[in-house]
Formats: sequence, C-alpha cells, structure tokens
Amino acid sequence: MFWDQKIETIERTALEALQLMRLQATVSRVACKVPRYQQKLADCGTKPSDIRSLADVQRLPFTSNSDLRDAYPAGLLAIAPDEVLRLHTSSGTTGKPKALFFSANDVNNAAELVARCLVMTGVTRRDVLQNMMTYGLFTGALVMHYGAEKVGCLVIPAGPGNSEKQLLLMQDFRTTIVHVTPSYALYLADFMEKKGVDPRKDLALRKAFVGAEPYTEETRRKIEEALGIDVYNSYGMSEMNGPGVAFECEHKCGMHLWEDNYLLEIVDPQTGKPLPDGQTGELVLTTLCREAMPLLRYRTRDITSIIPGPCPCGRTHRRLHRITGRTDDMLIVRGVNIYPQQIERVLMSLPSVGRNYQIVLEGLDEMTINVELAEAGFDGHVEHLTRLQSEITDRLRAEILTKPKVHLVPPGTLPVSEGKAKRVIDSRSL
Ligand SMILES: [Zn+2]
Repeated sequence: MFWDQKIETIERTALEALQLMRLQATVSRVACKVPRYQQKLADCGTKPSDIRSLADVQRLPFTSNSDLRDAYPAGLLAIAPDEVLRLHTSSGTTGKPKALFFSANDVNNAAELVARCLVMTGVTRRDVLQNMMTYGLFTGALVMHYGAEKVGCLVIPAGPGNSEKQLLLMQDFRTTIVHVTPSYALYLADFMEKKGVDPRKDLALRKAFVGAEPYTEETRRKIEEALGIDVYNSYGMSEMNGPGVAFECEHKCGMHLWEDNYLLEIVDPQTGKPLPDGQTGELVLTTLCREAMPLLRYRTRDITSIIPGPCPCGRTHRRLHRITGRTDDMLIVRGVNIYPQQIERVLMSLPSVGRNYQIVLEGLDEMTINVELAEAGFDGHVEHLTRLQSEITDRLRAEILTKPKVHLVPPGTLPVSEGKAKRVIDSRSL
C-alpha cells in the first residue's frame, strides 16, 4: 500500500536528479537568507554555483548541535518572521534549547511524510491511533498527530504516562495503534499483566510505532510478544521535522529514508569522511524541501548504516539499519568504548531477565548493571540465581570486553519510566 506511489517508487536516476535540483535550491536559499550559513560557506570556500553533482555535498560545511544552540533563538531562520507558522524546540537537554521553525509548507510536508510512513505499514482510515508521545514543544507527538489525521485515522492525543487512563482509552475506543517509546511500551505490558488485562483478548491493538529512544531487536521482540502486536521501527528527530524521516515497511528489514526530502550521508564520526553503503558510521542529513529552516549536513550523532540493495516492497528510497547508538551516548569505561545498546541486546535475549535494567557507573570506573528478573525467572533456588548471574556476566564481558558487576533484583524494583528511560547513572569521580 502506498500513500504517494509515484514518489515512493521513483527511479533512482530521477530521484537523484530531483535531489540535486533541491540541494542547489537549498544552498542558494541559505547563502542568500542566512548570514550564519553565508559565513560557514565562505569559511570552506564554497559558492552555491560549485554544487554541480550530489558528490559536491562534501564541499558544504557540516551543521552541528552547537550551531543550532548558538543560533538560538532565530539565527538560522531563512524566511520572514511573519511567514513562520509553528515553533518547536529540541527535547530533553539542559541549557538553551534548539529552536526549529516551520512554514505552512513545512508543516504540511512533515505530515505528508508521516502519512507515507503510516500507509507503508498498512494503516488505513479505519485505524485508531493512541499517541503516547509528549505533546508540546517536542515534535514527536504533534507531527505524528497531523500525519495520522491526514491518513484519516481517529487520533487520541493521550500523551505519555497515566497508565490507568491509557488502558481505559484503549479499551473504550478500541485503539489499534500506539505511538510510544520502547521503555513505556514495556512498562505498559507489565502494567496490563498486573491488571489482569490480556492485550490479545481484551484489546484491539495490532501495531506499535516505537521510537524516540534507540532500542534493540531483542526489545522489539519482547514488546511484540508481550502485547501480541507488530512493532515498527521509526526514525525522526526534531531537527529534521520530527517523526517520519525514515520508517519500516511491512517487510521490517530496515527503515526507508525519504530521500526526496533528505540527502543522506554516512560519515566516519571522527574524521567526517564519507563511508560507502553498508559501513557503519554517523548519519548526516541535509534537508531538501525545508523553507523556514534548511539545514546543511546536520550531524545527527546517530550511528547506523545503509542497507544495500532493493527492498521487496518496491520503494526505491534507501533503507537505514536500526540506530545502534549515539556518538554522545558512548560510555568510556576503563578505556573501552561501550554503547548502552550492546548491554541491552545481551540482557533482552535472556528469557529469565525482566523488562527493566540500569547501568550504574561510580567510584573510579566501577560498572554495575542492575537487572530485573522476569516474573517467572526465579524459582527460589539460590544456586540458580548464582548461575544466571555468572551467565549474564560472561555474556556481557564477551560483548563489551570489560567485566561489569551484575546485580539481580526482583521484578518491579527498579525505577520505572513513563517517558524516556534513564538507563545510565554516571556518578564517577574521575
Ligand atoms: Zn520496503
């Protein structure tokens, strides 16, 4: 099923020609309207007329997180202030936020991309989507909301938390889809179990769009099994309109990134040099259609790779592998680089492990991993616990190349999250 079949299945050569035309227009726009980009282009000696092929994107300057913060509030605005229709800010960070502006076309375009994503997974106007992301300055909820309305779904703007009410809404309005963070999806599964609600029998749920935090394939399976639904990976970020940048199709083998809207590069995070399809590195995106706030070569800090080859669904837009971490999530413990997702992958593959864990770093580089047992994971035999503890320790050591302390705790004892999970507590005195 397609929302916009013509553009979703466009031939690669036509797609690349469209990308080049839009890249040239974007560079000209920022060179003429945004003094900060005028300066950056001058610093790397590039004029808009130098962009003659897609490979010339490498002649353009990167845009970093700190560029956005330094430009706060309106230093990257490329349209007249009275043409701005909406403001969002980036989520979850301290200090100055990043301000993101949308023109009327930007608002509509963001919703169009979400509509493509939803229809790609089989959503129709008969679906009821309960949106459990945070409404407000964060793009996650609103952009999904408008996209789902475009498709014609009934949208329930539930927001996160208040599980009692979430469940009531799901039961009374026969919710078929939830848009949710992975940690909250797992929390809800536990909550339903406690309430004696069997999602397979008592609810109409059939899909979840899970995003806003990186998570592993093992966590996806855990959510699918616990709720009896299909879970689709989605990728988006406020700097790139919010949700709807890339999404899985029904084949669930990578997320199609809408290349008519975003020019995609994978670069070596240290050197910034481009990497070929299939190699893992940092995702860098250039907006191709944005009016209010175009961004050139934005360093997303997300680690992924391009999946080479065509997808059986017929879409020609290339696919991203799931995000395996963020360059700034990387922990350095005893000189070893560790991504929290590596730990999650090990824990979630073990049936005796429950749905919650915590990584605690303290003292002089001591790493302790608190692991909740599954409800059925403990039979009362201490020797079984000891065996499980050493199995987890061995598997983690094999994955992260350093030996953590593993501390097993009863189900439901670690702090739960009703929004984004805080998995890492770093109070090292280094
Ligand atoms: Zn596909």
